[in-house]
Amino acid sequence: MQAAGAVFKLLQGRGEDKPEDLLLTRDEVLTWLKEEEEWRLSFLWEEADRVRKEHVGDEVHLRGLIELSSYCRRDCHYCGIRGSRKIERYRMTEVEVMECVRTAVRLECGTVVLQSGEDPGLSRDFVTRLVRRIKAETPLAITLSLGERTLEELAEWRGAGADRFLLKHETSDPELFRRIHPDCGGEVSDRVALLRAAKALGYECGSGVMVGIPGQTFESLADDIMLFRDLDLEMIGCGPFVAHPDTPLGQSRVQSPESQVPASDVMTTKVVALTRLVCPDANIPSTTALATVNRERGRELGLERGANVWMPNLTPLKYRAMYEIYPGKAKVIDTAEVFHQSLLATLERIGRRPGKGPGGRRHPAAG
Ligand code: SF4
Repeated sequence: MQAAGAVFKLLQGRGEDKPEDLLLTRDEVLTWLKEEEEWRLSFLWEEADRVRKEHVGDEVHLRGLIELSSYCRRDCHYCGIRGSRKIERYRMTEVEVMECVRTAVRLECGTVVLQSGEDPGLSRDFVTRLVRRIKAETPLAITLSLGERTLEELAEWRGAGADRFLLKHETSDPELFRRIHPDCGGEVSDRVALLRAAKALGYECGSGVMVGIPGQTFESLADDIMLFRDLDLEMIGCGPFVAHPDTPLGQSRVQSPESQVPASDVMTTKVVALTRLVCPDANIPSTTALATVNRERGRELGLERGANVWMPNLTPLKYRAMYEIYPGKAKVIDTAEVFHQSLLATLERIGRRPGKGPGGRRHPAAG
């Protein structure tokens, strides 16, 4: 065991004689979430980085993000593209999507992430055709992040070749979830059940949370991290909560109680680091939201504190401003090529390298 790892375990109150692979308990996760001493946190960062290196290596997998459509039938109380907002919207054509897919191949992204609002206008047939075409014409893995879709649709898209399914559960606290994410008509959302069903269909599954949702407690965040482990997720994304100003939560002036989790970069990277320790083999992105709250170093901090995935945005520039889920996101704008150059420079600076191939989860048994 390296020195930082030994000190980390001693900080937990564990002796060196305890099994090395003993994973964190919920109480330990909770204690770390509340930790504010920088010198102690430095051991958390080091331990997360050590475990990241040991389990998933120095490669940073690139997932090319294509935001297919800004239409959404839902009305989440923080989201800039919520269905009730009167904004200009777009839905990409197959030709436009394939153009982005070719950019992903050119920039050596191993995966494309097809993301959108929950848009019934993206029909089952359209997505099936797209998935078949991408699989036939490229070596890319495909992640679907299209919201809560039916099991029939998920089964058909899996049959067409989709590899991964991404649906953030946002918070494991059902009341808090309902407060920010109202049900759609008579349909009751159960994102965790949908993730389990997608796993049963053979998808690699990803979920994640927002850190610092108004009303979120440290206890519920600890539960979220333990849920990542229970769900045995392949991908886990954690970003700070950022509300669009033109939404109910963006305009709320309610004072936060002391027990409120802050939506800060430090808090978010605590969650990233603890997630790495609890789910050592998972693919964990350093998120755009983290880069938005800390423009200077957010992306790097994520990678230095447990993350191993980066998601360059390949959406055509003319559509980016129309996919403004939260403020500032649209300002993270560069052409895919310009962004790619800065990405490579960043990776070199922090001693990491771009991953090759699809970059699925490396199970310990698979080596
Ligand atoms: S968060 Fe997602 S599901 Fe909710 S309104 Fe925004 S795009 Fe739609």
